[in-house]
Amino acid sequence: MKRVYNFSAGPAILPEPVLQEAADEMMDYKGSGMSVMEISHRSALFQSIIDETEANLRKLMNIPDNYEVLFLQGGTSLQFAMIPMNFMRNRKADYILTGYWAKKAYREATLFGDIHVAASSEDRNFTYIPDCSNLNIASDSDYLYMCENNTIYGTKFHARPDSKGKLLINDISSCFLSEPMNVSDYDMLFGGIQKNLGPAGLVIAIIRKDLISETVLPGTPTMLRYKTHADKGSMYNTPPTYNIYIAGKVIKWIQTLGGLEKMKEMNEAKAALLYDYLDKSDMFYGLVDKGSRSVMNVTFRTDSAELDAAFVKAAAEHGIVSIKGHRAIGGMRASLYNAMPIEGVRYLVNFMEAFEKNGGQYAK
Ligand SMILES: *Cc1c(COP(=O)(O)O)cnc(C)c1O
Repeated sequence: MKRVYNFSAGPAILPEPVLQEAADEMMDYKGSGMSVMEISHRSALFQSIIDETEANLRKLMNIPDNYEVLFLQGGTSLQFAMIPMNFMRNRKADYILTGYWAKKAYREATLFGDIHVAASSEDRNFTYIPDCSNLNIASDSDYLYMCENNTIYGTKFHARPDSKGKLLINDISSCFLSEPMNVSDYDMLFGGIQKNLGPAGLVIAIIRKDLISETVLPGTPTMLRYKTHADKGSMYNTPPTYNIYIAGKVIKWIQTLGGLEKMKEMNEAKAALLYDYLDKSDMFYGLVDKGSRSVMNVTFRTDSAELDAAFVKAAAEHGIVSIKGHRAIGGMRASLYNAMPIEGVRYLVNFMEAFEKNGGQYAK
């Protein structure tokens, strides 16, 4: 069996013990004679999977009882519409534009109301997190929207924006379970699980219970109301059963390793290895302001697009895959999600050093 060091931004690397366990249980889940994929979502067997997944997530993130945990579909991108449909009572909202996904969410919201850009870092191609300590938010704005970790640009909020008493809604797709978070600092946290938690196709939303109500924008389809899913324990229709099962295993894997404090410690050590090298290299450099650096997605480049391409190609030949940067910014991006071992980052840094020493002419 050959495994590579997979630095993909998502779908992304998953913990090997989780993949192995899923493989072991593939043909016969707990003596049922069936795969989890084959069992009814209405069965007691599946009910215990979803219940346990939710309970363990609540424990891991310390989610207060007044928050609902929903298992949803449609990707993070569908949340860009569901959020305004469910929360835009005055048809006004504030968005912080820190990158590609925040901007997509903003554009979607403009379909439903009058959207104000509370802060933006687009003037320098999203290479930093703007100061959000004193935003200008209208008194009748329904909520403030942010994206915690900007997957494509490689930035992260290191201070929580002051929402001036408005609801604060946060897309945490690419930093989900990468560090402890104080859930009650937010009114809604949500993320697709394909970055740090499982296979593509499941979104987990954590929403303050009192915000989930019948009052939604006129014409909001049944499936797009949070209340529909909250009332039915995320089983209004068939949920993505296998994804919930895998997410449950990843959550347990994190618990076994020591929880979110431990994840943070491990993730920071990995990111420091790579950033330290970037800071001293004469060939490679990081793309974002030091104070805004992401721990999960590290963006970097050389001075030449040809050299970047040569590096990506040579890296792939050495078992370092999916390290090409997003087309919006070019260069390279190494995603260092929870499942990436520190050995993988060391291997990458050693390879970069060798590549640099050889003047970009890495010999096989
Ligand atoms: C990947 C990503 C998305 C998009 O997720 P989809 O599931 O493809 O819709 C949105 N936000 C962030 C921060 C992401 O990293």
